[in-house]
Amino acid sequence: MRIIEKISDIKAVIKEYKKFCKTVGFVPTMGYLHEGHLSLVRASKSQNDITIMSIFVNPTQFGPSEDFSKYPRDMERDSRLAEESGVDIIFAPTVEEMYPDGYKTYVNVETITEVLCGKSRPGHFKGVTTVVNKLFNIIEPDRAYFGQKDAQQVIVIKKMVRDLNMNLEIVTCPIVREQDGLAMSSRNVYLSPEERKAALILSQSLQEAQNLILKGEKSRAKVIEIIKSRISCEKLAKIDYVQMLDAKDLKDIELIGGSILIALAVKFGSTRLIDNVMMEV
Ligand code: AMP
Repeated sequence: MRIIEKISDIKAVIKEYKKFCKTVGFVPTMGYLHEGHLSLVRASKSQNDITIMSIFVNPTQFGPSEDFSKYPRDMERDSRLAEESGVDIIFAPTVEEMYPDGYKTYVNVETITEVLCGKSRPGHFKGVTTVVNKLFNIIEPDRAYFGQKDAQQVIVIKKMVRDLNMNLEIVTCPIVREQDGLAMSSRNVYLSPEERKAALILSQSLQEAQNLILKGEKSRAKVIEIIKSRISCEKLAKIDYVQMLDAKDLKDIELIGGSILIALAVKFGSTRLIDNVMMEV
């Protein structure tokens, strides 16, 4: 496995692959790898000749008071895990390589980035779409792999790819959870043992909501209220949002039906966790 930092170097390698008609699968990450990331690698390996993973903590998707500088980083451990799971190349550019002095260009997807995490984290998705666009231009993948864990991110990226006629397929992979149900996240390391225990309320309340809907509940307001009251029972939990939207366009719904996304963001201390379920009703 190679680790490449320079854009010109990885472009030269990709050019060689393309010459031999190799298909390229791409897994963008911010590192501090866990099973969620590795599940994307496995999906890519099953569908492509070459799998490239990027590890880049992207400053433009963090707000000024967010955790960019303290985001967990461990390149040594990441490269070991990536190599063991069969990644061919890690692309790990520096911030200066991606955003040199005088950088001015941003990509923005409108409307669907103004709800859920986009509302709580203004500018976040503009940073995500900009860096993903740059990475797609550098790597020219045939397929790129994203986790359902970041449900709104996948919807936004798919919209960008369609709107800008980009020449690749976006593959969505299911949420990987710890045995007790907590969705895996690099940010879980921030949690104290008490917060880690309290955070189980997220997957549990989503599961409860899903069961209610499967039993025939049609009122969005009622299901949301139940999730909120369950989470509020946890003293350490501070709700950012709990919402149910149309999963296709992230528009509001009143009655539950069709493709729905129940998404939530909740803070435990200074750690903000997200989780979601998507259902066809
Ligand atoms: P991140 O490093 O957090 O930016 O995540 C990189 C990619 O891994 C994104 O497409 C995430 O949606 C995906 N991912 C993160 N956590 C999980 C998880 N628990 N299950 C599946 N995919 C995940």
